[in-house]
Amino acid sequence: MRKSLVFILLIFIFFLLIVIYEHDKIDEIDDYIEKRQSMVLNQLRSRDIVDSEVLQAMLTVPRHQFVDERIQESAYNDYPLAIGEGQTISQPYIVALMTQLLELKGGERVLEIGTGSGYQAAVLAEIVEEVYTVEIYESLSKKSEKLIKDLGYRNIHFKIGDGYYGWEEYAPYDAIIVTCAPDYVPPHLLQQIRDDGGRIVIPVGGIWMVQTLMKIEKIRGEVKSTGIIGVRFVPMIGHSR
Ligand code: SAH
Repeated sequence: MRKSLVFILLIFIFFLLIVIYEHDKIDEIDDYIEKRQSMVLNQLRSRDIVDSEVLQAMLTVPRHQFVDERIQESAYNDYPLAIGEGQTISQPYIVALMTQLLELKGGERVLEIGTGSGYQAAVLAEIVEEVYTVEIYESLSKKSEKLIKDLGYRNIHFKIGDGYYGWEEYAPYDAIIVTCAPDYVPPHLLQQIRDDGGRIVIPVGGIWMVQTLMKIEKIRGEVKSTGIIGVRFVPMIGHSR
């Protein structure tokens, strides 16, 4: 009799612990959803991010999962974060601005240079048909690929290599986004966008210089460049240095 009572008590405690644990997990998820909503409201909408696809994607992608556990709490703050190998994940506003500048409608094929954590790739994958992403550090590419697969994205394709050369195999792209800064626009990237309507969003400038975020468009084969704002990105390494 005693034994069975102890047994029942143990089972009860076991289930109680499960309920408490699950409850904590839900609290944590809710906490991050709130942080995301406030990021979209206070850092994006309040500035000049108006593209509803971009706002929705930024609301959806769990940015905290793309950084180290110890800095997850600050993942939705208004600044860039370290992701290892001396690299950074851009401030949410810059990710949103660059995505908005690509003028995506859905259905596009986009190339990203500088996979890093994979966060920008995930934001793109929420909007477009296929994302191709190139990273020069094998460690970063592998880590990001695993996370992206775990999160359930099936439309992001990874390549380890020097993004200076783009990714010829799947060209031409509707749009290219570069998240590291070369001194000049790599000619291979210009060749790999559509001749009519292809666009590139890229920070350009030397390591010690002010970089400019540029939007480049090809209209009937003609290239048009527009400077958007001053930015600070990690340098593009490899051929361009
Ligand atoms: N888009 C990333 C942030 C990238 S930081 C994100 O959302 O997390 C810039 C990245 O560009 C770094 O990971 C860096 O290793 C990579 N990089 C630098 N030079 C490169 C090159 N030549 N080709 C491809 N990737 C490069």
